[in-house]
Amino acid sequence: MLRLVGALLAVFLTVPLPKANAQEPKALPPADERYKADILVVVAHPDDEAAVTPYVARALDEHKRIAVVFGTRGSSGSNEAGTEQAAALGAVREIEARNALTTLGISNVWFLSGKDTASQNVLVSLANWNHGETLQQMVRLVRLTRPEVILTFMPGTFIGEDHGDHQASGVLATEAFDLAGNPAVFPEQISGPMRRLEPFLENLRPWQVKKIYYFADAEREDIFRGKGPSYSVKEISKLSGKPYWRMALDAFRTHQTQAKSYLDRIAQMDEAQIEKMATSQDGWGEDQHYVLGKSVVGGSVTGDIFEAITPGAIPFVRPEITLEPAKPDLWAELAGPWSFYAEFRRAHGLTNLPHPEPPEIALQGPGTLVIPLWIRNRTAKAQEVTITATLPVGWTTESGTGKFMVAAKQTAAPRVEVNLPAPVEKPAEKAPRKAEPPEVTVRAEANGQTVGEVKLRVELRKRALPQ
Ligand SMILES: [Zn+2]
Repeated sequence: MLRLVGALLAVFLTVPLPKANAQEPKALPPADERYKADILVVVAHPDDEAAVTPYVARALDEHKRIAVVFGTRGSSGSNEAGTEQAAALGAVREIEARNALTTLGISNVWFLSGKDTASQNVLVSLANWNHGETLQQMVRLVRLTRPEVILTFMPGTFIGEDHGDHQASGVLATEAFDLAGNPAVFPEQISGPMRRLEPFLENLRPWQVKKIYYFADAEREDIFRGKGPSYSVKEISKLSGKPYWRMALDAFRTHQTQAKSYLDRIAQMDEAQIEKMATSQDGWGEDQHYVLGKSVVGGSVTGDIFEAITPGAIPFVRPEITLEPAKPDLWAELAGPWSFYAEFRRAHGLTNLPHPEPPEIALQGPGTLVIPLWIRNRTAKAQEVTITATLPVGWTTESGTGKFMVAAKQTAAPRVEVNLPAPVEKPAEKAPRKAEPPEVTVRAEANGQTVGEVKLRVELRKRALPQ
């Protein structure tokens, strides 16, 4: 019996006794580190990533984590590699874009539900992308990836490629920069679970991005110079032993549906020929220029993209809103994307963002230029407004000039339509511009006074996206 008690005692002694009131804390899981990014690239179409991959190759050398968001799957345009078109082409291009980024070791890639839009007008693209829904998706991806920095297309209207979808990606990225840290915005995304296997609430956290930089596909460079950092792409990557531009070109090789003939030509060349062609004429070797949109952590305008950034979450920073300048009770101004961008810059604290003055656009000629106007009448009586247009030689007014009545306390949205002739000579689209494009002036007069004067520089081209 005593022996048995002794044996039992020995058993008890080997089992640790629970300590009174000292329960082990249960670890609450953190956010998934696999999706944390240092840089979130936001572009519109498959192959747009090539605008930043030469810089991205450098950032990978510095062990930065990169994630990429595309606005659309690129379902429009011709297919150089196969017969697939429309939605099927989009399905192919999604894989081409993913494979391009996989070449660089980037696998955190998402696509918003936007659709390709053949227009230079950002408002048309935002409408076609279902702006509210894609913004919700964009804010979700910022909260998921928690980037330090966003790199995206310049929101603005310029002579250049100037695709409305490119601009839309920059608009959405900027809006998400200002909204993702705000707990009042899409609060269902940041609520903790209310039950096991929560099917609605997403349990993300608000996230304040620290800096946003833009890259422009405008042809002019003058107004962007000195507005942000520049990076050479000719240095050799520690990771690959190749120049950064070459890593970017290698990644681009997956875009067969968009560039098969170009890629086939490259495939026939030796290394020296590729370097000569890619760096002398195709732009792969050009420095990468960025424009600082804004930083909420300080740093200098032209300093490194990661200057003043220290890791970790920071509190939400409400955007600094600039109030609209005072206007008279009756005035006319340029509307459409131009007035949107003026509002956008004020709403997002981007009043230093470069934009051409007077505004500019490149259009196909023969064709039509549409000049959208706001006529705002805050007076208590109807006002007669006379609209006139001063045009370059050979351009004619189609409609929209003459006398109009604007009712009391109303804002009217008339438009002037101008017939454009064919371009006189083929403009050297890649060469630096020799002369400023011709200017159109629309004047609004009422009660014997000018109440608004709109100027627009319009370059005629044989081919351009619709306005
Ligand atoms: Zn594009």
